[in-house]
Amino acid sequence: MSNSGHPKDSGRRRGLMLVLSSPSGAGKTTLSKMLLEEFSDVKLSVSATTRPPRPNEVDGKDYFFKTADEFRQMVANHEFLEWAHVFDKYYGTPRADTVARLRAGEDVLFDVDWQGADALHDQMPNDVVSVFILPPSIEALKDRLTLREGSTPEMVARRMEDAKREIMHWRRYDYAIVNDDLNVAYQRLKRILLVERLKRLRQLDLEDHVRALLGEI
Ligand code: ADP
Ligand code: 5GP
Repeated sequence: MSNSGHPKDSGRRRGLMLVLSSPSGAGKTTLSKMLLEEFSDVKLSVSATTRPPRPNEVDGKDYFFKTADEFRQMVANHEFLEWAHVFDKYYGTPRADTVARLRAGEDVLFDVDWQGADALHDQMPNDVVSVFILPPSIEALKDRLTLREGSTPEMVARRMEDAKREIMHWRRYDYAIVNDDLNVAYQRLKRILLVERLKRLRQLDLEDHVRALLGEI
């Protein structure tokens, strides 16, 4: 049977904004990296921050590292889709690129806290798909924070205090994943991406396809 006239899997689609949040240390950076490696049409939205780089972090790739003055200037210039004050530092999502990427059919991945997820959803409710990553236990979260490169005991203590406050917002998200076994968690994240791509509104060729089915064009 011929497939001609069917919208192809590679048909035009509007990209989605995949927003990941979690208490620090639950694994959203690790899961994001796995997704970015497997999917070349998923691009990370690189945030700006006033916190110092960790040893393995690269300016422009992990974050745009800014001074407080530079950050304030970017706020004044309306360069952010959203920004927030987290752990005494500023974090913001640059506006540039996101809209163009969605139009070009690329998905944009965001690693932001719950305030950022809320703000992105307010701005672009039809584009945001939000996922909250939960740790398997509080002990596991502490171990992961402690083992992470560049961590200090003060940093771990501070982030453990903030973890419960972040977790309290988990109900605001479309999906939640417990990151116990990394590969299981990753497969779940991937399934979310693949099924959300099939949402009717994101398949841009369907309108014409259905009009053709109905003999309208
Ligand atoms: P986040 O971005 O949420 O702050 P990271 O992705 O940096 O967290 O993960 C924190 C630490 O936990 C890292 O050292 C990472 O390698 C480790 N990690 C992530 N997921 C798992 C997992 N499922 N099991 C064990 N360790 C993990
Ligand atoms: P970290 O310093 O561990 O990289 O990130 C600390 C927290 O800031 C995390 O909860 C992370 O999701 C959040 N964050 C990172 N970038 C942004 C951003 O652009 N906006 C907001 N609102 N939060 C961010």
